[in-house]
Amino acid sequence: MINGEYADRLNRLQNELRARDVECAIISPGPDLRYLVGYDAVPLERLTALVVRRDQDPYVLSPFLEKSAALASPIGSLGLDVQTWTETESPYELLHRHLGDLSTLSVDGRMWADKLLRIQAEFTATATLSAVPLISALRMRKSAGEIQSLRLAGEAIDRVHARVPEWLAAGRTEEEVGHDIGKAILAEGHVTADFIIVGSGPNSASPHHEVSARVIQPGDAVVVDIGGSMPDGYCSDSTRTYFIGEPDDDYLRDFETLHRAQVAATAHVRPGVTCESVDAVARDILTEAGLGDLFIHRIGHGIGLETHEDPYLVTGNTTVMETGFAFSIEPGFYREGKAGARIEDIVVCGEDGAIVLNNRPRDLIVID
Ligand code: ZN
Ligand code: ZN
Repeated sequence: MINGEYADRLNRLQNELRARDVECAIISPGPDLRYLVGYDAVPLERLTALVVRRDQDPYVLSPFLEKSAALASPIGSLGLDVQTWTETESPYELLHRHLGDLSTLSVDGRMWADKLLRIQAEFTATATLSAVPLISALRMRKSAGEIQSLRLAGEAIDRVHARVPEWLAAGRTEEEVGHDIGKAILAEGHVTADFIIVGSGPNSASPHHEVSARVIQPGDAVVVDIGGSMPDGYCSDSTRTYFIGEPDDDYLRDFETLHRAQVAATAHVRPGVTCESVDAVARDILTEAGLGDLFIHRIGHGIGLETHEDPYLVTGNTTVMETGFAFSIEPGFYREGKAGARIEDIVVCGEDGAIVLNNRPRDLIVID
C-alpha cells in the first residue's frame, strides 16, 4: 500500500478527534495500529503505542528493543518520530511527560486492560474514552485497495469451498474434515486459518460449533463456515451448507426459503439503506415461512482487518450504508437438536448495489 493512504488515514483520525472534541488517541498493537500505520506489532506486555493528537504530528512510543522493528514497518517511510523507552523506564510516565495533563484521551478497543489501567493511574486528571467510534468511522469505508484485498481473500476461501466435497463424507469425523480444510485454507494463500466450523447433523443447528469427534452420517446437513487472514491482514469468511445423501422435502423447502432470503438481502444493499434494513429483508422472508424464530443471530458483521468489525447488520443499527462498507450476509435457521443451515457471502456496498466477493454456488450442495 502506498504511504499516502496511511498519511490520509492519520489525517482523517485527527479530523475525527477535532470533530468529537477529543484531545488524543493512543493506539496499541492490533488491527487499528495496522490500519493506521501498517505496523503489525505483536501485542506484548511492554507498551508500544501510536500517539495521535489533534494538532501535532503523530508519533510512536516504542520499547527501545523494538525500535528497528517499528522503523522496518511503513512507520519508517512515513517519517513518524519514534520515541523509545528503556527497560528501567516507565513508558506511562514518559507518555504523561510528553502529553501533559489532557482533559480527554481515547484508547483503541483492543488495548489490554492492564495498559489502560496504567494509563488511567498516570493520567488521573484526564477522562479516558474509547477511540472505537473514531476509528470505526474510518475503517468501515474500505478504500479500493482494501476492497481488492478482500476480493483476493474471498477468492481464496471460495477455492477451499470448491474442494470441500473431496473431504466431506459419511464415516469421517468433523475433526478429520476440519483438518483437511485447515491445510487448504493455508495452501490457498491465507497465513492463518482463523476458524473452521464443520457442524454436522444436530451440530449444524449450533451456529458457532467448531469441530468435534462426531462421525458424519448419511442424512446429515453439514454447515461449513470457514475463514482465514491473508498476508496483508484482510480476512475471509464464507459459509456453505452441504448435505450427505438425499435431504427430505421439509429441509429442502426451508433451505430454498433461506437461499431466497440471502439473495433478497444482498439485492437490497445500496448506498442510503440502513444496516438494520438488510437484516429485516431476510428476516421478513424467513418469518413469513415460519422460520423467523429459528434465525437466532444478526444477518451480518463488517469485515476487513478483523473478521468481525463495524458495521454490524442488526436490528437497531440505523447507520446508513455508504459505498465501501464491507460485511457478511449470512442468514441461517437452526432447529435445535435436529439440523440447521446457513449461507454466507462477503459483500461490499458499491455505487449500484452489492459487489459480492464469494461466488461459489449457494444451493444446498448434496454429497452422494
Ligand atoms: Zn461471518
Ligand atoms: Zn462465517
